[in-house]
Amino acid sequence: MSTSSVLKRLVLSMPFALALPAFAAEPSMLLTHATVIDGTGAPEQANMTVAIEGGRIAAVYPDGSRAAPKGAQVKDLSGRYVIPGLIDAHVHLTGAEPDFAHYQPHLAALLRGGVTAVRDMAGDDRLLGYLAGEANSDALASPDIFYVALLAGPSFFAEDVRAQEASAGEPLGHAPWMQAIDQTTNLPLAVAEAKGTGATALKLYANLPTDLVAKITAEAHRQGLKVWTHATIFPAKPSDAVDAGVDTISHSPYLVWEAAPKVPDDYGVRALGDFTHVPPDAPAILALFKAMKQHGTILDATLLAFVEEAQRHPHDMGAGIVPWSYAVTRLAHQYGVRVDVGTDGSGLPADAQGPRLNALPAVHDEMTLLVEHCGFTPVEAIQSATEVSAAAMGQSAQRGTIAPGKRADLVVLTADPTRDIHNTRKIAFVVKNGRIDKP
Ligand SMILES: [Zn+2]
Repeated sequence: MSTSSVLKRLVLSMPFALALPAFAAEPSMLLTHATVIDGTGAPEQANMTVAIEGGRIAAVYPDGSRAAPKGAQVKDLSGRYVIPGLIDAHVHLTGAEPDFAHYQPHLAALLRGGVTAVRDMAGDDRLLGYLAGEANSDALASPDIFYVALLAGPSFFAEDVRAQEASAGEPLGHAPWMQAIDQTTNLPLAVAEAKGTGATALKLYANLPTDLVAKITAEAHRQGLKVWTHATIFPAKPSDAVDAGVDTISHSPYLVWEAAPKVPDDYGVRALGDFTHVPPDAPAILALFKAMKQHGTILDATLLAFVEEAQRHPHDMGAGIVPWSYAVTRLAHQYGVRVDVGTDGSGLPADAQGPRLNALPAVHDEMTLLVEHCGFTPVEAIQSATEVSAAAMGQSAQRGTIAPGKRADLVVLTADPTRDIHNTRKIAFVVKNGRIDKP
């Protein structure tokens, strides 16, 4: 071998040698004697082994039907239940924390409580981009983070203090993640700037007419971004968004505007729909559900947020908003619309002092509402928080079910969640990306 070829080999191999610790395959792990609830809505399966390799689920099979790979770490899960990692499909991380130092314990509490991924539905993308980098590379004990760039009509930015805070330092309505859009906007450029933030999707929030919703959605999809909208975008109504081909629509109570005689141009009234006179099974709403099923549009119901808000600020909400929201979500489910699980807060329950780091994530409460008020079985509620929430994030290929090839994001429970949905709270341990989270 010539000196130069030796040198060449040495040089070529060096980056790999240096990189080895990071790329070293995770030791494979076998979770045996588990009862598996796989997230697809299928019934639970007892006496199963889940084989994990390199952060992925390698195989799922009946106990003892295959030989254990050499050197695999075996964990006997007799009497335990395994569900996919829970995904909170609607959080706002950056509005919730007063300073940066609080994110680490906050995110760790979410992971410890079974949440392995979150969809952040609008905030400061400078911070979200940083947190997502840390979380998604497992440098931080945290759920993986996916986030949006928000688009809305110009009037929204003057009205909404949250948008002003989340884009502080940038001209109002011109931050790439908080953009004001009107008929004169260069849409290909606006969408490209939004994409440059690292966002997975555009969020169409408010004060946009139907034709703009359609144009923005087409351009976003052309550039490979998802489109996630409020169910009513004022004046665009739910069916306008669904017909435009958006991927998910948020907030069950805003469906009331589908059957309203007129939808105002401004989002200020969004929670003040006429829940007394518009029945949840109004023909227009049922037609909407048929269209959603046909298009595969996911409903991001976010019930818990309205239950809490109706208690705190009843006068800011239309009378009857909570029972109406339960009823319409139940109907959506009956009509075959996929419903995800999102909590529309920090992901943790909060009190006057802020997020409660010792509490379990709110995703458990939202699942319970689906079962107790909207006709979901526990297995269906788990499917909503896993397979459907993963689909809502555009992550179906990677996450959401316990199947070969998916990321090994799992929650191991000490009690059967198919008997009682409250049992998703009884967590033995959490696996994210093939690693056991050690609190
Ligand atoms: Zn939200």
